[in-house]
Amino acid sequence: MSNDALPTAVDVLVVGAGFAGAIAARDSAAAGHSVLVLEGRDRISGRTWYRKFEGKEQDVEVGGTWVAPDRQPYVKAEAERYGIDLFQSPEPQAFGWGIDGELSREPFPIPAEEWPALERAIARMNQDADRIQLFEQPLGQEGLEDLDIPFTEYVDALGVAPKTRDFILAWPTFYFGAYPDKLSALHVISWVTAFGSCTGWFTLLTDKFVGGTTGFVSKILEDSGVDVRLNTPVATIEDADGQARITTRSGEEIVAKSVIVTAPINALNTIDFSPELPNAYRSMSEETQAGESVKVWALVPALEKDFYGVGLHTTFKWIASEYTTEDGTYLCAFASAEKDLDPTDRDAVEAAVQEFLPESTVLAIDSHDWNKDEFSQGTWMAYRPGQIMKYSAGLQVPHGRIHFANSDLASGWAGWIDGAIESGLRAARQSNDLLGQGA
Ligand SMILES: Cc1cc2nc3c(=O)[nH]c(=O)nc-3n(C[C@H](O)[C@H](O)[C@H](O)COP(=O)(O)OP(=O)(O)OC[C@H]3O[C@@H](n4cnc5c(N)ncnc54)[C@H](O)[C@@H]3O)c2cc1C
Repeated sequence: MSNDALPTAVDVLVVGAGFAGAIAARDSAAAGHSVLVLEGRDRISGRTWYRKFEGKEQDVEVGGTWVAPDRQPYVKAEAERYGIDLFQSPEPQAFGWGIDGELSREPFPIPAEEWPALERAIARMNQDADRIQLFEQPLGQEGLEDLDIPFTEYVDALGVAPKTRDFILAWPTFYFGAYPDKLSALHVISWVTAFGSCTGWFTLLTDKFVGGTTGFVSKILEDSGVDVRLNTPVATIEDADGQARITTRSGEEIVAKSVIVTAPINALNTIDFSPELPNAYRSMSEETQAGESVKVWALVPALEKDFYGVGLHTTFKWIASEYTTEDGTYLCAFASAEKDLDPTDRDAVEAAVQEFLPESTVLAIDSHDWNKDEFSQGTWMAYRPGQIMKYSAGLQVPHGRIHFANSDLASGWAGWIDGAIESGLRAARQSNDLLGQGA
């Protein structure tokens, strides 16, 4: 990584140094092209960020964290390629379920009399999940129109009792970081497809990368050998007269034969494109995707038992103990920005923790506000109702010399690290094809 003067011409200019950008840069360089990566932030790794909890020695992931290599082919292949090992979040021994206006401490909160209806609902969700061709094409596939509706509407049609309803709604609320009325049921059900069935979907993910996500991205970039310039936001990209002309916010100009833009959908507005972006990008960027989770780390006095909680009407939609050290227990929790939890307000975080753990006091907090961060303006992909059928196919189509990669655009695990890698590989292939044609 360097801060020297920018070269004025490269074969491929990559915007963004997250997982998608690192993979796209590596595969572009491997095809023999000169590549430059421009990153707006003062660090690599985008919406993943492994760093110390503020003022402590404990390393924490403040962005993307958990993976499922058995079901995520791109994560699996890249982790193997770079020798990245996994370690696990603790197995919970104490539970809290904030559903149907109560806090249940049972390992499973649904009463036996509601199980038949839950089973019928699960069977229906599994059937719908089987209709989706994951990975093979964008999610907006013919015949799935009936699923691209608010997830609440989908669940209401299942005809389940209130506890079961809240349980089914609570899951995507934390998994997508958006309220279920703002979420496309098609996107939710695609994750059931991705996990293999509802059994997989309702099971906890525990695998994390040893050395953290940022260490992983760093390895990919080192392997690529490409130059990465930090603190260099791209302001404009113009595709005209057989070349792309890129201008940075500080006014420097670079020309490239191909550009790969990895800015998230909600942050595409940081760049002016000429010619104007096609409808799918423009509309998605204006409407925005719905993911707006608030991920908070809270240090509490050491818990005797590892804890796990999920709630629909609680402030935190998900909360779990991640590390217990001599400092105490580091809890990781997700709220919704809509609920107005200020993640920097210790008292507010403590009140939210106490909804699940009434005896706990909060010793210290840490977080990053991805919703206010201009280079993300949201968390991870959560398609709103109707967006998948209208836009998902268009989001993978290059715009002249400009290609797009981002987890938001993936055909498989859209919103996940796996999706970011999938999209980076695709964009590099598209770009290499263009350059191979003598562009
Ligand atoms: C709180 C949180 C929790 C998550 N949890 C998980 C999880 O447990 N498991 C999982 O798999 N995924 C998770 N995710 C999602 C995952 O982190 C992302 O899907 C993935 O990291 C996206 O990678 P990307 O390369 O596609 O995009 P990004 O990581 O967003 O990379 C895009 C890059 O482009 C840069 N950029 C943007 N605009 C400009 C510009 N104008 N000029 C220059 N650079 C620019 C950005 O700074 C950024 O570095 C989570 C995300 C968040 C925020």
